[in-house]
Amino acid sequence: MNEELELTERRHVSSLMAPTGGSAMEEQEDVNSPQSSSFSILKMLEAAAVRRAVNITPYYDRQEGWNRSITEAARTNRGRQIQPGEQKQEFNKRPAKIGRRSLSRSVSQSSTESFSSAPSDSDSADDEVSPREKMQKNSKGGSDFCIKNIKQAEFGRREIEIAEQEMVALMTLRKRARSEKPLAGAKIVGCTHITSQTAVLMETLAALGAQCRWAACNIYSTQNAVAAALAERGFPVFAWKGESEDDFWWCIDRCVSLDGWQANLVLDDGGDLTHCIYKKYPNVFKYIKGIVEESVTGVHRLYQLSKAGKLCVPAMNVNDSVTKQKFDNLYCCRESILDGLKRTTDVMFGGKQVVVCGYGEVGKGCCAALKALGSIVYVTEIDPICALQACMDGFRVVKLSQVIRHVDIVITCTGNKNVVGREYLDRMKNGCIVCNMGHSNTEIDVASLHTPELTWEHVRPQVDHVIWPDGKKIILLAEGRLLNLSCSTVPTFVLSITATTQALALIELYNATEGRYKQDVYLLPKKMDEYVASLHLPAFDAHLTELTDEQAKYLNLNKNGPFKPNYYRY
Ligand code: NAD
Repeated sequence: MNEELELTERRHVSSLMAPTGGSAMEEQEDVNSPQSSSFSILKMLEAAAVRRAVNITPYYDRQEGWNRSITEAARTNRGRQIQPGEQKQEFNKRPAKIGRRSLSRSVSQSSTESFSSAPSDSDSADDEVSPREKMQKNSKGGSDFCIKNIKQAEFGRREIEIAEQEMVALMTLRKRARSEKPLAGAKIVGCTHITSQTAVLMETLAALGAQCRWAACNIYSTQNAVAAALAERGFPVFAWKGESEDDFWWCIDRCVSLDGWQANLVLDDGGDLTHCIYKKYPNVFKYIKGIVEESVTGVHRLYQLSKAGKLCVPAMNVNDSVTKQKFDNLYCCRESILDGLKRTTDVMFGGKQVVVCGYGEVGKGCCAALKALGSIVYVTEIDPICALQACMDGFRVVKLSQVIRHVDIVITCTGNKNVVGREYLDRMKNGCIVCNMGHSNTEIDVASLHTPELTWEHVRPQVDHVIWPDGKKIILLAEGRLLNLSCSTVPTFVLSITATTQALALIELYNATEGRYKQDVYLLPKKMDEYVASLHLPAFDAHLTELTDEQAKYLNLNKNGPFKPNYYRY
C-alpha cells in the first residue's frame, strides 16, 4: 500500500474513534468512572501520593534536588493525577533493516558516541572478542546477560545517574507507586535503544514490580557501559554496540525464549521484537497482555496487522500520544537543530539567511530557534494554514526558487520527498549548508548529487563538500539523513516524557480489566497524557490552577480532567 493511502486510512480509523458529535467531553469515555479500567491505576497513584504526603517521601525538585518532601508538593499543588479516555488508528509491513534508526528518539548521539567524561565506552583489545564468546559474571555471580564488558558497570552507573536528574517523572513514579507495585508479576520483554535513559525506564519498571529482559533495537546505539551497569544490577540485557545482524536477532531470541520465563508484556521500538515473536514464537502471544510500541515504523506495522485481522493482542501506540508528538517534534527539534548545525559546521547563526521547508511541528521548532539567534528565516509551505501561521509568527513565506540563490542554510522539515531536488542544489550559492530534519533521507535528492561531474570531499564525520566543476561547493550534512539524530544530542527531558508514557502504557495494559482492550491499536487515554505532563511540572516549579466547582460545571468538565476533547490540537 502506498504511503498516502496508509495515511488516509489511518486518519479514517482515527476519526472513527474520535467523538462524533455533542459535547466533546460527553463523547469521551468517562475516565473518572470507577468502571474505567484506568481509573483504579490512577486512583492508586493518587492515593499513594496522598499517603506519601503524610509519610514525607522525598521527591525531586529542580532547584533543591531530592530533599524536599511530597508534602510540599501537595501543598504547592504539584503532582496532579490522571484518568483515561480512548482512541485508535491503523498500519504497515515487515521490519525495516536493523541499521535503521527509528524516529522515536530513545537514543542520543552523545550516548552512542560517548561524550562522557568517563572512559566508559572505550574498547580495549579484550573487547575484540565477540560478547557471545565471552563468559562474564556480575559481582553477584549472575550470568544471564550478554554485553560487551561487565567491568564498565561503574561508568555506566554514573551515566544513569546523570539521566535520572532529568527524568524527574519516572523518579516520581517510582516513589509514588513503589509500594503498590502496579507491575507486580509483569514480565516485560523489551527491545529499545539501550541508553542511560532506557536504563532509568527499566529500573523504574523493576521498582514497580516488573521483571525485564531487554535487547537493543539498533545495532549501533547501545551504550556499552550502561548495558554493563544494568547487567551488574541483575537485568538480563543482551546488547552491545556494533552487533552484527545475526547478533541482533540472537539477542532478541535470548530475551524471548527462555525456559521457565514467559513474557506477558512487550515494549518495542521499531517492531522487530514483535515481528520475531510473530514469526518464531507465536505461542508466546497466548500470555501477552499487550504490546507498547514507540516508533513510527513499528506503529505502522501494528496498524497493518490490525487491519489484516492478525493482531492477536491489544497494542498501545505511544508514538502518537500528544505528549510525544508535541514535545518530541517541536521542542526537541527547537533545541537540536542548533546543536546539530553547530557541531558539524561551527556556523554562526546571527544574520544568516535560512530557508526552512515545511512549517509543521518540526519546522516551527527550527524556525523559532534560528530566529532567536538572529537568523533571517524564510519558510516554504504547501498548506495555506501553516503558511499563515508562519506569516503571523513573523516569517516570510516564499517559494524555494525565490530565495535559493542567496540563502546560507537550507533545512527540510516536510516529511515529503524530493523537496530539494538537483535543480535547487545547482542554484545554491557557494558554501550553502544543506540539511534535513524531516523524514529519513528522502527530502533532499542526495542521489542526484552522485554524478560524475560533481566531486565529493569528506570533511568531518557527517559533513561532506559536494563540489561543482566551477569550484562552487555546498556543505551537505549527514548525507541528507536526519541532522539531529546523526549529529547532535537529544534532550533527556524529552526522552523522559516518552519513557514515562511508555511506563504508563505498560501499567495500563497490564492492569486493564478483561475485555477493556480488544485486539487493536489504541492511543493512550488522554487522561494519562495529562498525567505524564503533570509529572514533569514539578521540575519547573510550575503550579496548576484548579477549576472551581462552578467553573467545572460551566465548562462541563470533571475537575480532575481530561481537560480537552480528543480532537483538541494544542
Ligand atoms: P507536519 O506534518 O506537522 O509538518 C510538515 C509540514 O511540511 C506540513 O505543514 C506540510 O504542509 C509541509 N510540506 C509538505 N510538503 C511540502 C513541500 N514540498 N514544501 C513545503 N512544505 C511542505 O510534520 P512534523 O511533525 O513537522 O514532522 C515533519 C517530519 O519530521 C516528519 O517526517 C517527521 O517524521 C519528522 N520528525 C523529525 C524529528 C527529528 O527529530 N528530526 C522529530 C519528529 C518528527
